[in-house]
Amino acid sequence: MKYWKKYSKEKLINRIDKALKSTVDFQNSKYLGYPVSNLDENVFNTNGPFLNDSPLLKSFIANPNNIGCHTLGKSESAFKGSQKLEKEVIRVLAVDIFKAEKNSYDGYIATGGTESNIQALWIYRNLYKKEYGATLQEMAILSSEDTHYSVNKGSNILSVDNVSIPVDFNSRQIIKPELEKIIKNLITEGKKYFMVISNMATTMFGSVDDPDLYAEILSKYNVPFKIHVDGAFGGFIYPISNKKSTINFKNPHVSSITIDAHKMLQAPYGTGVFLCRKGLIENVLTKEAQYVDGMDLTLVGSRSGANAIAVWMILFSYGYYGWFEKISTLLLRTEWFEKQLEALDIEFFRDPFMNIITLKSEFVTEKLAENYGLVPQNHEGINKWYKVIIMDHVEIDDLKKFIKELKKVRVYN
Ligand SMILES: *Cc1c(COP(=O)(O)O)cnc(C)c1O
Repeated sequence: MKYWKKYSKEKLINRIDKALKSTVDFQNSKYLGYPVSNLDENVFNTNGPFLNDSPLLKSFIANPNNIGCHTLGKSESAFKGSQKLEKEVIRVLAVDIFKAEKNSYDGYIATGGTESNIQALWIYRNLYKKEYGATLQEMAILSSEDTHYSVNKGSNILSVDNVSIPVDFNSRQIIKPELEKIIKNLITEGKKYFMVISNMATTMFGSVDDPDLYAEILSKYNVPFKIHVDGAFGGFIYPISNKKSTINFKNPHVSSITIDAHKMLQAPYGTGVFLCRKGLIENVLTKEAQYVDGMDLTLVGSRSGANAIAVWMILFSYGYYGWFEKISTLLLRTEWFEKQLEALDIEFFRDPFMNIITLKSEFVTEKLAENYGLVPQNHEGINKWYKVIIMDHVEIDDLKKFIKELKKVRVYN
């Protein structure tokens, strides 16, 4: 790990204080033209000794705006401090977690996985238009049937068809011959340009798609394609638990990645991360964004600098080893749970590097699922699966109670 270090509490606080000082101080300066200010002191308690130990609260009060993308070009000078911390977050993610070369990437803290996925599709749609004069009808999005619905939103907004690829019921892996058949048919129907959403842990199963499978078939048919990895859920676990993972920027087929900080990292909501290789994000430059100093290359406009500081704080409070230990604990609990289920002959899906276990619904009663807050695959119609996610708050003692109840309802044929 080049950049992902653990900092002491004093260092964290000092760095954040320094960052906030270099952010415009609305109280003491002359910024007449900015439609921004501190949090309203008539409404919020913005002063007091309790703030000394709460750098995040101080950041929310200072209210910096991290508008724009700060890994290239110019940025608004009024918010230098929080932008710098954001750049450090992006660097840890791109270089240390996803193995990009120094300065070979762009990225920003988006509002979430939904925005990051749409940002990727938007970039590729514009790229195909610009480079090939492609029409919307000639483009297609490919993603597995377990893909997050944000991709359907993107497809709808951008007017590019999304084609769902079937997966095997038990292994949740993309069925290769089906994928090939679909691609062949799409090409016959006139599709020429492809954007793939490859999951690094699906929301329901924690299953991981193989981006090389898409690359192999699309290369065989000699059509342009781009692969975006949706690591909204798995991005802070899978690359750390599976050291041999090739789903990163060392893989030439991977062009961009989504990672959510507000899921596994437990950051405040509004902290998804978008990463891509250099030379791509310019495709969504909004030239009309003239009042913003620097280039506006992001789907969202104004966005919270305090949120960027929150993600920075989490990463550098743990450091790589601290985070590795935290993930390892969750995976140990998941393995414990897995063994209990195996002993009861209960069928489930689990990727060995993930902390999600999805049980076949015939082994769980609806009442039990409700009592323990399991999430069904379908809220309407026939539900075949229920998932358990081993988060920080899900401890073995909780799982034990659930297993005990599960035993009671287990019917052996
Ligand atoms: C949660 C999730 C998303 C959407 O993220 P939001 O942050 O809720 O917008 C996208 N993809 C996957 C795999 C997810 O788990």
